[in-house]
Amino acid sequence: MRISQNYIKSIKDTAREFESVNHELLTRAGFIDQVASGIFTILPAGDRVLKKIEAIIRNEMNEIGALEIRMPSLHPKSLWEQTERWNSVDILFKVNSRHSYEYALGASHEEIVTPLAKKYIKSYRDLPLALYQIGTKFRDEPRPKSGILRGREFGMKDLYSFHAHQQDLDAYYQKVSDAYIKIFQTCGFTDIKITEASGGDFSKKHSHEFNVLTPAGEVNLVYCGACSFAQNEEVIQGNLKKCPLCGSSDVKTDKAVEIGNIFDLHTRFSNSFKLTYVDKNGENRPIVMGCYGIGITRLLGAIVEVHHKDDLIQWPLSVTPFHAQLINLSKHDSSYADLIYRTLKAEGFDILYDDREDVSAGEKFMTSELIGSPVRLVVSEKTKKNVEWKLRDDDKINLFSATEIIKKLKDFYSA
Ligand SMILES: [Zn+2]
Repeated sequence: MRISQNYIKSIKDTAREFESVNHELLTRAGFIDQVASGIFTILPAGDRVLKKIEAIIRNEMNEIGALEIRMPSLHPKSLWEQTERWNSVDILFKVNSRHSYEYALGASHEEIVTPLAKKYIKSYRDLPLALYQIGTKFRDEPRPKSGILRGREFGMKDLYSFHAHQQDLDAYYQKVSDAYIKIFQTCGFTDIKITEASGGDFSKKHSHEFNVLTPAGEVNLVYCGACSFAQNEEVIQGNLKKCPLCGSSDVKTDKAVEIGNIFDLHTRFSNSFKLTYVDKNGENRPIVMGCYGIGITRLLGAIVEVHHKDDLIQWPLSVTPFHAQLINLSKHDSSYADLIYRTLKAEGFDILYDDREDVSAGEKFMTSELIGSPVRLVVSEKTKKNVEWKLRDDDKINLFSATEIIKKLKDFYSA
């Protein structure tokens, strides 16, 4: 991607008040643009990160046998009345058509996916079934203040599973939990805290939340430094001195952000839509369901909250928008930098090429730091037919030939 031809614009606006770290750093580096409270446009560099996150998620969902679909955002009121959620879910956006039909803007998709499953599941042979989508959700949050950690319109992966009996759901629930850990680790989170959560507005048997520790978090997490114990502070009675699991006194409390959740819905929604199947003995039985969410734009925000240093984003290798940033400092001749750009692109690398002519070296380096890719390459009159190689996390600068640069990039990203 050439900077001169694309909408990549870093903003030095330090006077502006930002509501959170992710909001400030993503805005300054030109990844997002705020439209209104809780509403954001994702700009080209931000879109690249989201697509990488989505690919990681899609890969793991397909791995556990889930089928990808796309469900609508406009939900007829009757479906939300059937689950008795039209009036009880307070964050639901409601819209009227000019013919006075009422709709909900999808805040969740049980009202769509359950009737869909009813059209396809007839007998035990049609089970289990798992359907997921990557799309947009709408929630009328009262005060969205955490940048893209909490939006009124946001990206989400939601998966719904349908099973003949509870044991089958339990086994799949564990599979999804394992897949979630893999997804979050691949996205650059090393320490994921899983908490068992209370019911919310579903009358569910149980649910689990996946959290990462960050000062930007909206929940207080009590966790054990010696084992996997973690719980939301609100549910804990009294002051916990010792870990209830392992007895360690290394019990801490820190802020955390929830990046995913899984729910055992049992028959909550299959009852509403009379979703049943015929078992081997010819008897009608209710279907048990699970639902599993990952906030995708929220994940983008959480990555920035966890991975930044000195007010600069430090993208993990797996989701970096660009493998390297190539800066041309040759004043009179860009042909060698152009050649390096084309060569690296042909090798399959995502390169952000700063080919601007009217911009100072200082500004190019600043843009590069704001974007936060792990590798910086510089071509100038000084480097002649070589390229300057610098890692973001290392001050050392070395000169290499084009062939060596290709090998170094390959080694760096496969390590
Ligand atoms: Zn413990």
